[in-house]
Amino acid sequence: MELRCSICGVKRAVAYQRHSGLKLCRDCLYEDVKKRVIDQINRYSMILPGDRVLIGLSGGKDSFVLLNILAELYSPSKLIGLMIEEGIYGYNRGEVLEYMENICRELGVECIRTSLKKDLGYSVDDYMKYQLASNSGYIASACTYCGIARRRILNSYARMLGLDKVATGHNLDDEVQTYVINILRGDFMRLLQLHPLSSVHSTKLIKRVKPIRMVYEYETALLAYMMGYRFQEVECPYISIRPTLRVKVREMLVSLEMWSPGVQLRFLEFIDTTLESVVKMGVFKSIELSHCRLCGEPTSPNRVICKFCELIDGMRTSGSYRQ
Ligand SMILES: [Zn+2]
Ligand SMILES: [Zn+2]
Repeated sequence: MELRCSICGVKRAVAYQRHSGLKLCRDCLYEDVKKRVIDQINRYSMILPGDRVLIGLSGGKDSFVLLNILAELYSPSKLIGLMIEEGIYGYNRGEVLEYMENICRELGVECIRTSLKKDLGYSVDDYMKYQLASNSGYIASACTYCGIARRRILNSYARMLGLDKVATGHNLDDEVQTYVINILRGDFMRLLQLHPLSSVHSTKLIKRVKPIRMVYEYETALLAYMMGYRFQEVECPYISIRPTLRVKVREMLVSLEMWSPGVQLRFLEFIDTTLESVVKMGVFKSIELSHCRLCGEPTSPNRVICKFCELIDGMRTSGSYRQ
């Protein structure tokens, strides 16, 4: 006997939603996920009527789901997708990015493709090679460089194109990991900055929003698959070379979630609510970002040189790896 969907009772259930105990059909799963996205957008005024939004498209299932839902909620003419190639040997995602370009075309969303190398001069591999060869030793992990570089590129395109927001496909698991990492590091300011309502002042910094932050990774995977996305998510090779704190935290959270389904959802809800009152007290109101002395990009108030310039400083001065 075919199992019926717990919500509509009509269609065949194809997914088991662990945190709710519901068995859902494709359409009810999509609607449930979309509802959480709309809730987040409204609760935190992430996207306002008339806003033009740059969507960071990694080519993975999360960005696929994000793109589809935003293109349904907003006029595609207000959306632009940006795909950034990291430049990692053996992690060639050309096929996936072409697929995403086609999806954008079908949805009527303009799509731009660029790379770390093209925009910043150095790919992730360039950066790691430089660290191996330099005398100053290990400066930062590939993930640190990649993350900072991608954020920078997203921000500059949004600014250049005069857009109002940058939307990224961070899911619930990503968001909880980042919160936990900052708690473990004891970094309260960073913790506050993660809150969707926190904002710092700089005309050069375009507000970043994460509309699918209440959606589990397993849900975006299920949904993407059901919507026709056929790519296996390939783990970046740098993760296995040197596991970061994030990997350790992820492992811990995965086992907690197995033991008590819904634990991450409850954690995020709890910490959002707890921090909201602190953020609303206006901790960031008086904070004006300073601008990097080397590149002019916004940086933390206590910095003279931004984190990106600090990372690539050695490469820049030696002139290595720049074509
Ligand atoms: Zn249903
Ligand atoms: Zn700089």
